[in-house]
Amino acid sequence: MPASLPRNLITGGAGFLGSHLVDRLMEAGEEVLCLDNYFTGRKANIARWIGHPRFELIRHDVTEPIQLEVDRIWHLACPASPVHYQHNPIKTAKTSFLGTYNMLGLARRVGARLLLASTSEVYGDPEVHPQPEDYRGCVNTIGPRSCYDEGKRIAETLCFDYHRMHGTEIRVARIFNTYGPRMLPDDGRVVSNFIVQALRGKPLTLYGDGEQTRSFCYVDDLVEGLIRLMNGTHTGPMNVGNPGEFTIRQLAELVRDRINPELQFVFEPLPQDDPLQRQPWIELARRELGWEPSVPLEQGLEATIAWFRTSLPAA
Ligand code: NAD
Ligand code: UDP
Repeated sequence: MPASLPRNLITGGAGFLGSHLVDRLMEAGEEVLCLDNYFTGRKANIARWIGHPRFELIRHDVTEPIQLEVDRIWHLACPASPVHYQHNPIKTAKTSFLGTYNMLGLARRVGARLLLASTSEVYGDPEVHPQPEDYRGCVNTIGPRSCYDEGKRIAETLCFDYHRMHGTEIRVARIFNTYGPRMLPDDGRVVSNFIVQALRGKPLTLYGDGEQTRSFCYVDDLVEGLIRLMNGTHTGPMNVGNPGEFTIRQLAELVRDRINPELQFVFEPLPQDDPLQRQPWIELARRELGWEPSVPLEQGLEATIAWFRTSLPAA
């Protein structure tokens, strides 16, 4: 008898990253339980798998415990856009803490391996550049971003305490800004904002002077990194992101030039605690996983713009 393929639970599986991961695991012939409360996820993202014998969809909130038989837990459930995670910050903190606690409890009970989708936000507004995994970060504990940043930091802590106390198998990915098809048009994150504004013929909104930087990873590269981390032996924390660093103004120019070079930029106030710079150091992922991103920003933007052109509802 061939060894059976792993049974995967993907929390946040109807969201942007989660649904791409669902696709990859389903295409690999694995079993997938997709769990979501649809706060920022959409059934449309996983509609192609509904009714498939290896696919199951569960409407559930991770702040409540759940009993399931699974081998691998990909714990992605948590709003990722500042607009969404600040909508109800107490709920965001509960999702990060209680959600991770519940999923670790499940992992411990059934002997599953858990991968946490952590974030570059654990580094806050970094004084070290680029950010290596052993940098401990500069996070405001009481600002509007804290519910997310501190939520992910305690989620990482819980993972390592379950690992030390109970031997629970964990993998911690620190994901840097990722973009691609299936971002929500009203997501509020910069790549989708600029593309949607440009396609609608509106000015692009740059916060602050636009000189702050981010490093943008295309979703296919990111999902490949997560799969390699889950399948490998390193617990992490491990940075998963694209080290190509751009100012927000450069990103705006790239989007504008591809959609409508006539468009204007408008400058709006920089949100509180908005990090000035961000770039992943990815030597650990290169060494441990043999992974590095392969899709340059220009190419990933083309694919993302093409997707928004066909899927964007009329304003
Ligand atoms: P997303 O908002 O598209 O997806 C999050 C999913 O989780 C959604 O489907 C949402 O409905 C679901 N969800 C939220 N709260 C829930 C709850 N309490 N119970 C059950 N489901 C819940 O965001 P994304 O970009 O796909 O991010 C996925 C994960 O990756 C998040 O944990 C995020 O923190 C992390 N991450 C993403 C990025 C990025 O750039 N995309 C960067 C760093 C970290
Ligand atoms: N940003 C911007 N215009 C927008 C949306 C975002 O200039 O319409 C800026 C934002 O201030 C930040 C950067 O783009 O400096 C990335 O923002 P995003 O919300 O995508 O991600 P995060 O700040 O969480 O990295």
